[in-house]
Amino acid sequence: MTLVGPIWRATVLTLFPEMFPGPLGVSLAGKALASGLWALEARDIRDSATDRHRSVDDTPAGGGPGMVLRADVLAAAIDAADCGPDRPEDRPRLLMSPRGRPLTQSQVVELAAGPGPLVVCGRFEGVDQRVIAARGLQEVSIGDYVLSGGEIAAMALIDACVRLLPGVMGKLSSGADESFSDGLLEYPQYTRPQEFEGQPIPEILVSGDHAKVAAWRLAEAEALTKARRPDLWAAKNSRQKQPKNTTKG
Ligand code: SAM
Repeated sequence: MTLVGPIWRATVLTLFPEMFPGPLGVSLAGKALASGLWALEARDIRDSATDRHRSVDDTPAGGGPGMVLRADVLAAAIDAADCGPDRPEDRPRLLMSPRGRPLTQSQVVELAAGPGPLVVCGRFEGVDQRVIAARGLQEVSIGDYVLSGGEIAAMALIDACVRLLPGVMGKLSSGADESFSDGLLEYPQYTRPQEFEGQPIPEILVSGDHAKVAAWRLAEAEALTKARRPDLWAAKNSRQKQPKNTTKG
C-alpha cells in the first residue's frame, strides 16, 4: 500500500522508555510498526532534568504523601519533543490521568485521523498543575481506577488508534461493525465447532439469510447494550430523538 504524507506518529514522554514498544511491538500493532505504517518514539522525561541527580520530582506543595512530577522538567521534555520540522505543533498533547475525560471510541477515531499525539505518562502522585495549563495538556483517563503510571494507559490509547490506521486491519475488518461504532456493544460471535458442549451455534447464523442475520445481530446488540450499558443506550436514544438539523441555503 502506498502512503501519502507523513505517517501517524505517537510520541510518548515517560520515565520508563524501556516499557515501549512492549505490547505495541507484537501482533497487529507490532507488524504495522515494523512495516512502517506508524511510528513510535518513547522519550525519557529524565533527559530534561538539569541537576546532578537528574531529579524529576519533588514533594507536594502543602504537604501530603508521595511526590509530584516537576513542571519545569516536564515542560522542557515537551518542548524538546515538539520542536523540529517533522513534528508539527498542532499535534494533540495528551496527559494520561485518572482525572481526565474518559477515553471513547469517537475520540480514538479522531486521534487516528490526525497526525498522532504526544502522550505524557504521569507517575507518583501526578504532575504539577502549572505544566498542564502552560503546555495545553488534555487529560485523558482510561477508566475509573488508578494505575501506578501512565504507560499502560498510553499503550491502550495508542493501540486503539493504531488498529484504525489505513492498512493495519486489512480489508476484511474495518472496525465499522464493532462495539461503540454505532453507540451499541457488539453482538455475540460464534465459530466452529458447530456444537460446543451441547450448545449449537444459533440456527439463524448458519441459515445463509443475510438480512435475517443482520436483524438478529442488531437485536442482540441492542439487548446487550440495554442490559450492560444503560448509559450508552440512553445516549443513543436521545441522539435519535434529537430533531435533524434543517439548515437552509
Ligand atoms: N494521585 C493521582 C490521583 O489520585 O488522581 C493518581 C496518580 S497515579 C498513581 C500515577 C499516574 O498514573 C497518573 O499521573 C497517570 O499518568 C497514570 N494513571 C493512573 N490511573 C490512570 C487512569 N485511570 N487513566 C489514565 N492514566 C492513569
